[in-house]
Amino acid sequence: MLQDALDNAAAGERLSREEAAALYREAPTHVLGRLADAARARRHPERVVSYIIDRNVNYTNVCVARCNFCAFYRPVGSSAGYVLGFDEIFRKIDETIAVGGNQLLLQGGHNPDLPLPWYEDLFQSVKARYPEFKLHALSPPEVIHISRLSQLPVATVIERLVAAGLDSIPGGGAEILVDRVRTLLHCVGKATADEWLGVMREAHRAGLRTTATMMYGTVETLDERLEHMFRLRDLQDETGGFTAFITWSFQPDHTELGEKHGVTTEATGIEYLRTLAIARLVLDNFDNLQASWVTQGGKVGQLSLAFGANDMGSVMIEENVVRAAGAAYCMDEVEIVRNIEDAGFIAKRRNMHYEVLGDPIFRERQVPRMLHLATARADGDTSVPEELANYAARSKQGKASRGQTS
Ligand code: SF4
Repeated sequence: MLQDALDNAAAGERLSREEAAALYREAPTHVLGRLADAARARRHPERVVSYIIDRNVNYTNVCVARCNFCAFYRPVGSSAGYVLGFDEIFRKIDETIAVGGNQLLLQGGHNPDLPLPWYEDLFQSVKARYPEFKLHALSPPEVIHISRLSQLPVATVIERLVAAGLDSIPGGGAEILVDRVRTLLHCVGKATADEWLGVMREAHRAGLRTTATMMYGTVETLDERLEHMFRLRDLQDETGGFTAFITWSFQPDHTELGEKHGVTTEATGIEYLRTLAIARLVLDNFDNLQASWVTQGGKVGQLSLAFGANDMGSVMIEENVVRAAGAAYCMDEVEIVRNIEDAGFIAKRRNMHYEVLGDPIFRERQVPRMLHLATARADGDTSVPEELANYAARSKQGKASRGQTS
């Protein structure tokens, strides 16, 4: 089986599950890398490696989902819970534009006190102030959360969000698309595998492009990682709506899974590179694979470019989620470009659709260096945005704090 799999992969043939399993389990790492690099080169022969300048903003950390791998969320009523005000988000957009950025990656917890009109008003006011600025926002579980909260079908929620200004949907919350694993991670309630895929299907039908992700290294088997990839490959065959695939390893610090369930070690760099390489070979209908340097660090991120990745993801201006679980890597545009070029590739700026926007912006004009990661809020800032009083809360604590009685 291994030899057949090696031959098929080298010839660029579509891999069966058995062949993928044989390669993932048995092929030497350098051979997997060579095959993945050849697959990358067939799709991207021009040796361009792209990246995007955008800002990763988490609009709230209050969440009722309580996934046990997450160190970021705070329960409803927690004094450490926050919701960003519209003005705070505008300021973050101004800072993003100042360093050449064109998009927010906007995700947050499942906050029961943020109804659909809050998202609509936010998106509309962003578009009114910054008509060209893009909103890559709300992963499938967030869309499902809003759908449940508003008692509207997912398709209607997507339609209303698009009308308000949503441009594309990030592939967060996929973890592993196998319900056995999702149950153990306490995330099956926020979205089953079918529900996650169902939101993406609806989004693609509505004309949105989305990304797909995978978080591995918790309680799943290698076969379940492959099951995840094959489910994505099937949906991509059906809709063609995914622009990219991004995989990263579980970050265990300060998580319930780490502290109470003993999953305390992080997958190694070799495991990451093997997983990335097998993804490039299995996902033969995905154009783009991102290097997850945010979790793996810049050096493994750079090596990813020899294991199937053709994109360095985003310049990191702000990060809250991975940092809460113990990883805080920072690379601004200068550093990302240095890593791409040192690996023998040509660095190009892109948008969410992976269309090339141009050469590095710092070579065109002076932009401030970003040598430290910003956070959603400064430590100790517990301010509550004024506009929240205009939106109906669902939780007892939310109603009380807004003076709402019913
Ligand atoms: S991963 Fe997302 S949905 Fe799960 S607890 Fe954290 S913020 Fe909530």
